[in-house]
Amino acid sequence: MILRPNIYIKSIKDLDIIKIKNLGIKLLIIDIDNTLVPSDTKQINDEAIKFVKQLKQYQIIPIIISNNINKRVSYFGKILDIDYYAFSLKPLPFRFWQIKRKYHINRHEVMIIGDQLMTDILFAKSSRIKSILVDPIINKDNIFGKVTRTIENFIRKIDKFEKGAYYDKM
Ligand SMILES: [Mg+2]
Repeated sequence: MILRPNIYIKSIKDLDIIKIKNLGIKLLIIDIDNTLVPSDTKQINDEAIKFVKQLKQYQIIPIIISNNINKRVSYFGKILDIDYYAFSLKPLPFRFWQIKRKYHINRHEVMIIGDQLMTDILFAKSSRIKSILVDPIINKDNIFGKVTRTIENFIRKIDKFEKGAYYDKM
């Protein structure tokens, strides 16, 4: 199956930052909805703040990329003081090309963390970067995630790629 991430963990707090640092990662693209914060919340939380802070401590540049609207994405970008991109059209690789130019970075130095196979992991494939899959924080998708999640559930079923079955085994 082509839609497999390089790392599969339960949530952002399980990410071994030293491990990705050792892989040569200098920039981590973070999905917002159901990866960084629940898709139904408008507020930042301590866990998200801590995650971004830790990445900065290890000199990994955190960036958020979302298919969601600018109002929501800019709120999180500004409060976390990181670069942010709304309306990103994941799985298309346009945002990656933009980031690559802006940061003068090699694709081997970039990784994405997200909760959806059809957007985040497929974005990694189309951009030819490494990826980390997390389980969605809550089992509710907003309009930007509903359709792709339905396709994902179908793919997971035929591919026998179950939630949790591959944690840390990739
Ligand atoms: Mg998401």
